[in-house]
Amino acid sequence: DAVDAPLLEVDGLRKEFGGVTAVDGASFRVAPGSFTGLIGPNGAGKSTTFNCITGIHEPTAGTVRFDGQDVTGLAPFTLAKEGLVRTFQIARELSEMTVLENVMLAPPGQRGESAIQSVLPGLREEVQAAERDVVEDAWETLDFFEIDHLAHEDAGSLSGGQRKLLEMARVLSTDPEMVLLDEPLAGVNPTLEEKLLDRIDELRRDGLTFLLVEHDMDVIMNHCEHIIVMHQGQVLAEGDAETIQSDERVLEAYLGG
Ligand code: ADP
Ligand code: MG
Repeated sequence: DAVDAPLLEVDGLRKEFGGVTAVDGASFRVAPGSFTGLIGPNGAGKSTTFNCITGIHEPTAGTVRFDGQDVTGLAPFTLAKEGLVRTFQIARELSEMTVLENVMLAPPGQRGESAIQSVLPGLREEVQAAERDVVEDAWETLDFFEIDHLAHEDAGSLSGGQRKLLEMARVLSTDPEMVLLDEPLAGVNPTLEEKLLDRIDELRRDGLTFLLVEHDMDVIMNHCEHIIVMHQGQVLAEGDAETIQSDERVLEAYLGG
């Protein structure tokens, strides 16, 4: 079904690894402000699709458009500046920083500006005000995810679930327009899972767009208003939860592996 003005548009996406075709001509659209789920059996090509959209892999063919612009093959940092981000596992160097420091990293595109500002003495006061804003925003973000009590802990000391919340907090501190989540609930206990999903629903109401890969069908069916099913590198079906659940081909794809 057509989305009039999609925020994300994937057209004829293809990715080959040597002789393996991981994504085989996938096309789909994501509406602005939606919570869209991307599902499919293991090996369907979901992660590769994510990696092609977010600049981790260069697609073999096809195009990715974001907000009307061709962004095919752009690097993750460039995409982040455009407002398209994904969560990453917290890397080693970030593990040694505190939780607060992790959400205080300058939003993409603003480092250069601050460097210029800092050599212009007349702007010093404005810079200091901006730095205060960064700290305030960071605390607000931690508060939003209810991890403010962990602010001064090393990120590396958090539990798996707390790390997932921090990964979300980090991504949101870059002020994105669209967030891609690849199994954000893996290893998260039910209490934190509920918290994370509540936050996503709240952010959506604020206008953010989410694309989610998740194994837990209950989560997908209860939270996503649009679901895209991949199978063997292609889009097999899409629609709302009811449509997907009653689609014979989807059932067969899961049973057949
Ligand atoms: P999903 O996330 O849906 O489980 P993937 O995108 O991870 O699927 O994988 C799709 C197919 O591509 C699988 O057959 C997988 O083995 C293959 N694949 C993924 N990444 C690579 C890679 N880097 N090199 C070779 N084959 C890969
Ligand atoms: Mg995967």
